[in-house]
Amino acid sequence: MKTIKKVLIANRGEIALRIMRTAKEMGIKTVAIYSEADRNALHVRYADEAVCVGPPPSGQSYLLGNKIIDICKRLNVDAIHPGYGFLSENADFCRNVREAGIIFIGPSPESIELMGDKLSSKHTVARYNIPMVPGTSDAVTDRKDAKIKSREIGYPVLIKASAGGGGKGMRVVENEEEFDEQMDRAVSEAIASFGNGSVFIEKYITSPKHIEIQVLGDQHGNIVHLFERECSVQRRHQKVVEEAPSAVLTPEIREAMGKCAVEVAKACNYYGAGTVEFIVDEDLKFYFLEMNTRLQVEHPVTEQITGIDLVKEMIRIAEGQVLSFSQSDLQIQGHSIEIRVCAEDPENNFLPDVGTLQTYIRPQGNGVRVDDCMEPGMTMPIYYDPMIAKLITYGKTREEAIAKMIRAIDEYQITGIQTTLQFCKFVMQHEAFISGKFDTRFISLYFSPEVLSPQPNDQEELLAAALAGMLIKDKKPVVHSDTSLSSNGGKSKWRNRIER
Ligand code: ADP
Ligand code: ADP
Ligand code: MG
Repeated sequence: MKTIKKVLIANRGEIALRIMRTAKEMGIKTVAIYSEADRNALHVRYADEAVCVGPPPSGQSYLLGNKIIDICKRLNVDAIHPGYGFLSENADFCRNVREAGIIFIGPSPESIELMGDKLSSKHTVARYNIPMVPGTSDAVTDRKDAKIKSREIGYPVLIKASAGGGGKGMRVVENEEEFDEQMDRAVSEAIASFGNGSVFIEKYITSPKHIEIQVLGDQHGNIVHLFERECSVQRRHQKVVEEAPSAVLTPEIREAMGKCAVEVAKACNYYGAGTVEFIVDEDLKFYFLEMNTRLQVEHPVTEQITGIDLVKEMIRIAEGQVLSFSQSDLQIQGHSIEIRVCAEDPENNFLPDVGTLQTYIRPQGNGVRVDDCMEPGMTMPIYYDPMIAKLITYGKTREEAIAKMIRAIDEYQITGIQTTLQFCKFVMQHEAFISGKFDTRFISLYFSPEVLSPQPNDQEELLAAALAGMLIKDKKPVVHSDTSLSSNGGKSKWRNRIER
């Protein structure tokens, strides 16, 4: 057991600030790192100490593991929290941190290695009774063989990069005629994004829900789950809206999925916070997808419904403490929803938008939490993730959480940058979302840019829009294409993002 007195957060933006807040509450000193683009960022000012690590591109700053370790030694830092993205799932970094005598607030390098690769994670859990999507258990290299296997599995199939993440390196194949083309695309995307062209094939579940289970384990073999998060509203296989609990799970399925997630964690001797992702079909049958060995973007909804600060638990676990609660101590209280407020233009195919936040006023009030790292006058750096904030609401019931979300979206004032706020309001008000009967096709089925235009009967809004139109620049022409499954037209929001 070692008490952490000073922690370095190897990250930026909202997650760096969120981690520092908990550290402060625990009486732990904080060290920020920053790139030249983030010199004036809030996370830098919030920290007790801050060190510049290099120029804006993450490869020259936030990803410089050895430089970050040197800073820790120089400043007598006991522990590193990697947040999500960047170095969080880098087993070599984790190992180097530990070899330098510094605590890595996360799992062991061995767990990261086993779960970081989708195929190796499937092999790891294969000994246990974990339901898996039908598919190849190894990488496919021979095309002829791959086609025979796909026929056996039954079209449509999904070609997936084993090293994949962030929804990249994934291609749906509807029939054998398009197999070669989609295979080429999947392999080249996998090489471009992950430097590893290994792909495998899975049955494509046609109306799937994405439901994941949060787990927490200590270094003494105790593992619990903190229930599910429903993350089916997705674009390009990336989450946009998340909630807990799911509107459709029965207590029995919840328990079965929870048990299964704990088994998966046990299979890789997991400790720390992790997420076991499942795909759930129309009959509520669930299948293991992958495990993410880090704090998840959407972790706040779990915190809201369980009353547990996941970062605090991660720190306690890293110190070697025993989990202070058991499964039976945990209960779901109320309902929580999170939306990702991104600097993207929903009326223009969600293209990332750049600019300066002229107005930035956060919503407040009962049941509203904003995790961000923004202030008026700030310019969105083009080098990183385009997420401006996470807006989270909490209510006694799902209806209440939705009502609070709509109210909070209306209160949120952002000008100078296009955001996904109105798009998220559309989701909250859509009958399919309200009923809970939606799957990962939600956006491709129901969304087109026109739905964001004011309706003719909204006289007041029309007038306001007309007035605003006189004041602001002309809108860009609306381009909409269905980006739900395979194509992202080379305009991925990962363009300038973190490489792992
Ligand atoms: P989740 O919401 O489940 O945590 P995301 O897919 O939104 O997962 O990814 C979370 C973070 O992990 C991203 O913001 C990004 O920083 C990082 N990440 C995940 N996959 C990739 C990838 N392929 N390339 C770069 N960063 C990634
Ligand atoms: P990543 O590492 O990119 O997060 P995942 O395996 O978690 O990869 O898949 C990301 C998303 O892609 C899922 O949330 C789901 O929407 C979709 N997906 C993955 N596998 C399947 C499948 N077999 N059938 C249908 N959709 C899938
Ligand atoms: Mg995933």
